[in-house]
Amino acid sequence: MRVGIIDADLLYRPRQRFPNLACMKISGFYKREGHRTELIQDYKEIRRYDRLFLFKVFTDTYVPNEILQLENLTYGGTGFYYDKAPPLPEEMEHGMPDYELYQDYIQGKMQPGKSKAAYKFYTDYSIGFLTRGCFRQCEFCVNKNSKRSVPASPLEEFMDSSRKKLCFLDDNFLACREWERLLDSVLETGKRFQFRQGLDLRIMQESQMKKLFSGKLDDTVLFAFDDIRDRDVIERKLDLLNRAVPVHKRIKFYVLCGFDRAGLWKPDFWGQDIRDTLERARILMRYKCLAYIMRYEKCWQSPYRGMYITISRWCNQPAQYAKKSLREFAAEQGENSAACRYVQEFEKKHPELSEYLDMKYEEEASHGAVYGY
Ligand code: SF4
Repeated sequence: MRVGIIDADLLYRPRQRFPNLACMKISGFYKREGHRTELIQDYKEIRRYDRLFLFKVFTDTYVPNEILQLENLTYGGTGFYYDKAPPLPEEMEHGMPDYELYQDYIQGKMQPGKSKAAYKFYTDYSIGFLTRGCFRQCEFCVNKNSKRSVPASPLEEFMDSSRKKLCFLDDNFLACREWERLLDSVLETGKRFQFRQGLDLRIMQESQMKKLFSGKLDDTVLFAFDDIRDRDVIERKLDLLNRAVPVHKRIKFYVLCGFDRAGLWKPDFWGQDIRDTLERARILMRYKCLAYIMRYEKCWQSPYRGMYITISRWCNQPAQYAKKSLREFAAEQGENSAACRYVQEFEKKHPELSEYLDMKYEEEASHGAVYGY
């Protein structure tokens, strides 16, 4: 049988740079069963296959309706079902992903003499979930129905020994009671690793910090700082981390913005949310940490939509965030640029927040420098 696999995010989003794990697992399963699988790189090719699978991670990835109605197509993923996405059948879930699925696609993308770094997750990493689930039930999260973090796949289930690095997609690894045994299995490989969804610094104990940082962490260590009300615990844990281990890695925090926990979405929410976002960036600057802005989908309906875009473009480029204030970043786009206009309009409405437009990484870090990179 000829099986066509569609990574819908890849077809719709030109900047997509991460493989779909479900697609690789399905491909692995059918190959083991003796079938031929291929990654479909254009919807025009779909007639050539006996069976089709289509997956997407992002809810806003467009898939033509006529594709979804094909009788030989099965579709799934958080992009369709969000927090209600059904898991893959056990025999697919617990099998080695087919890391060759994207090979032709990558070969077509890579140009001689050009850096391969953009495609490193397709070529260098074994990818999987050591644990799944989380106890926090954050309202905005695909895990909101989960109650705890439990072991999912043993490392040997998805580790390809020829790949030099490991990437874990765990939701809240450190909340799993068996974190130490699982982390030991990672350390024993001697491979570089990262937890791509971020770790929960708020629950992190000194023993966890010591063990985690004793390993070969990949270039950036990711945490989350989604709620300004966590500022005390985040600061306390960053102080503890500083005392517990020598940190020579870049520390980056996902910073969620545009989510109203009260669920009211009143007009005065947005100014406050921009303030909370920039205040979190300031706290992180003081610890010489990077901020990576994650915009909740409602940001597109905000009167400050442009301001959210400008803050994201500034923060999410470390070279800009570490060297320029937000005002300088906007000015550099040109005095008639949209970024400049967004910042000026925001300041007119919220002059009390002007100080945030001028804060700078080096100056803030000098108040409380902890880590360097
Ligand atoms: S802590 Fe993270 S993984 Fe857990 S529910 Fe909240 S956002 Fe999701």
